[in-house]
Formats: sequence, structure tokens, C-alpha cells
Amino acid sequence: MADVIRLKTTRPCPICGKPSSQAHHPFCSGRCQDIDLNRWLSGSYVIPAKDEPEAEDEAAEVPAPSEEDDEP
Ligand SMILES: [Zn+2]
Repeated sequence: MADVIRLKTTRPCPICGKPSSQAHHPFCSGRCQDIDLNRWLSGSYVIPAKDEPEAEDEAAEVPAPSEEDDEP
């Protein structure tokens, strides 16, 4: 009856559905780990962002003020 030996609760790999390995938990392999990471980086997972700045280079460095031009 107890033919299956489980060290921990084995959950299937969220990427491919294979049994996950302890080395790459909760994934089955480093490849699936990479796939999951790429999904995050590419924005496949929808993360609502509220305070996202739209114009980044609008507050660039301001050059010297022109009012100090006192040359005769
Ligand atoms: Zn996998």
C-alpha cells in the first residue's frame, strides 16, 4: 500500500506539470525555472502598477540659468 515514498509534499511543476525536483523546487528543472522567470520579466503575469512614472527624462538636469548673462 505504501509503495510511494515522499520526502515532502510533491507538487507538480507549474510550467509543464511534471513532478517537481527538490533542487529546482517548485519546478521540475532549471529550464522550467527559467521559463517562469522569463514570464515574470516579460510581463506575462499581470501586475497592477499604480504609481508608475510616465515621463522619466522630463526632470533632466537643468543647465545654467540664462539670467546671469551680465556680459556688456
Ligand atoms: Zn517543468
